[in-house]
Amino acid sequence: VIRAESVHKSFGRTEVLKGIDLTVAPGEVLCLVGPSGSGKSTFLRCINHLETIDRGRLYVRGELVGYEERDGKLHELSEKAVSRRRRGIGMVFQRFNLFPHMTALENVIEAPVQVGKEPKARARRRGAELLDRVGLADKTHSYPAQLSGGQQQRVAIARALAMRPELMLFDEPTSALDPELVGEVLEVMRALADDGMTMVVVTHEMGFAREVGDTLVFMDDGAVVETGPPADVLSDPRHERTRAFLSKVL
Ligand code: ATP
Ligand code: MG
Repeated sequence: VIRAESVHKSFGRTEVLKGIDLTVAPGEVLCLVGPSGSGKSTFLRCINHLETIDRGRLYVRGELVGYEERDGKLHELSEKAVSRRRRGIGMVFQRFNLFPHMTALENVIEAPVQVGKEPKARARRRGAELLDRVGLADKTHSYPAQLSGGQQQRVAIARALAMRPELMLFDEPTSALDPELVGEVLEVMRALADDGMTMVVVTHEMGFAREVGDTLVFMDDGAVVETGPPADVLSDPRHERTRAFLSKVL
């Protein structure tokens, strides 16, 4: 689903991604871990072209993200073409960013109705199903301010699913939550993984990575240091930097 080849990205003179290579297969759950500032969020944002890339190639479902290639060079696509490609990708951030003046259901159906041009009645039916799927059937008509952080994040997941993405990106979806609310969000993500969703998850939740992840990628200083099955990387890291990081988070 994803293929990154030598992806480079700088902000000004700082090189933040120094040649990322990785692939994500259909149905794979890839957990991306690493110290603060290592480039995890930047890489995730490149996957749906919220950031441009400077060098390398990044493909989602065989198509370049945000670019077309002519004469061996990348040319950025129009806004419209970018948003069309982005539609197959759901993203969930640390901050849930729900529309505060809309109910849970209204938040979920906003994109399908406005962007996807789905008939409202059908969108509402499906929106209710999605809220049920994330355990919020009884909160359909609640406003974000009436929901806990964990519930808001589950609405955000339902909202991302409403566009029927083939790929879901999560950027530390539980790190803004009170500890007792983390589990309910991870449970929803686990169920999604069990359903076969392809996922890239930036997280510090090593228990989740071990149990749900197929692959763990450790990034440091803009580069992939180590990749492998989570249980292997967690119990027997090959690199000193991985070991040092894990000794702090485990
Ligand atoms: P964290 O765990 O703290 O979320 P991260 O691994 O997600 O860290 P990034 O957010 O990708 O790291 O940031 C990587 C580097 O790029 C950092 O040094 C950051 O300061 C820098 N950076 C990120 N976004 C920008 C930007 N828009 N402009 C300039 N520098 C940026
Ligand atoms: Mg980040």
